[in-house]
Parts: sequence; structure tokens; C-alpha cells
Amino acid sequence: MRCLLCNSKMKQQPSFSNLFPQKHNDFCAFCWQLFERIDTQGDGRCQTCVGLVDRYTKQRSCEQCCFWNEMYDYIPNHRALFCYNETAKEVLHQIKFLGDCALIDPFVMKTNEYLRNYMNKGIITAIPSHSERLKKRKIDVLKHFCTQLDYPFEFFLVKLLHTPHQSEQTKQARLQLDYPFEIQNNPKHDLIVIDDVYTTGATMYQAVAALQQAPNYDKEIQTFSLFR
Ligand SMILES: [Zn+2]
Ligand SMILES: [Zn+2]
Repeated sequence: MRCLLCNSKMKQQPSFSNLFPQKHNDFCAFCWQLFERIDTQGDGRCQTCVGLVDRYTKQRSCEQCCFWNEMYDYIPNHRALFCYNETAKEVLHQIKFLGDCALIDPFVMKTNEYLRNYMNKGIITAIPSHSERLKKRKIDVLKHFCTQLDYPFEFFLVKLLHTPHQSEQTKQARLQLDYPFEIQNNPKHDLIVIDDVYTTGATMYQAVAALQQAPNYDKEIQTFSLFR
């Protein structure tokens, strides 16, 4: 078996599972070290989104979360596996723009482990992409990733291409119109909303806000991203 990133040969540790070896895509130990794991219990991270906070201000929430909390009636308990560092950026670029879809597979096992240990069970749902963009990329990488996870997967949102004419709206009205997602399928159970990367949090907040507007829906919504 060869590492998907550096192509070096990987030795398989003898174990019971090797009696029935399963071929799966993975990175070598050296390449895994290039990804920085986020320690959820660690200091210096925002309590709500695990983003970095200024250690000296002793704030529990980062500035971004404080900003979103004023706009949305929702306090996330976002969880993420790895820092969005240079390696993560490069790999995600290769996956999303060069179409090297297999590179997402090594993260499946790590995510399953994380979901099992640190999050409540729920239906997995992904942040949808524009269908135009999907046509260009031909494969929905996030869906490819999510359908390999241990919990059932379903789409509940669609991404809208156009928001209503905004030019004549007041700023406040524009903020309220800033919901690029619409419910296509009414959720009934607890959800885990998954995205590849959480940067400003805007997408995640908009997605959760849209889900919360589903008729008669008041279950738990958790959010997770591979990178933060
Ligand atoms: Zn490697
Ligand atoms: Zn935060």
C-alpha cells in the first residue's frame, strides 16, 4: 500500500485484520503528522467553534462567535478535527479543484472515531453546493465523504443560486435575506451538519438557521468540519 500524499510504501502492522486485508486509502505516519489535530479540551480555543482565541484576554468565545451570536439566535458547539494549515489547504485544493477525490478517504476513519467518542448520534447531513458548481466538478466530494461515515446520510437543504433583489433593501433587511439555503426535505431527527472547512462560520450559521426554520422541527443540531 502506498501513501496517497507522498507515495512512499507503507508497512502494514501485523494484526488480526491483516488476515483479511482490506485495501483502503490512507496517508503514511509522516504525512499524518503534517496535519495538526485540534485538541478539543485544549486552552486557547473558542468554547463554541474551537477557533483560536487570544489567551491573554481569557475570553471563552472568539470575536467571530460574538459577532454571529448577535445576528443569530443560535450558539454552536462546533467541533473540528484538524487545523486549516498549509497542508490542509493544499490537500483540500487538490480534492476540490483538481478532482483528486480519494484524498478525502483517509479522513473517514478518523471522523468516525471522533463522532463516536465526542458527539451525540444523529443523521449526517452535508452543506450543499450550487448545482452549477457540482456540474463543473462532476463529483460532490462532501457527499462522497459523508456517505462513508457510520451514521445515515441525507440532504435536507438546497443552495439557492439567487437571492431576491437586494439593491433597494435596507442593510437590516439585506442581513435577513442572507439565507442562501432552503429546506428541500423536512428533517425529523437529531442532525450532524458537516462541512469540509469552517472559516468564518457564515456558511454553518446560515445552514443551521435554515434547518431551524423547518416546520415543527426542534431536535438537536450539531456541527462538524474536518478543518477549522
Ligand atoms: Zn506519506
Ligand atoms: Zn468561536
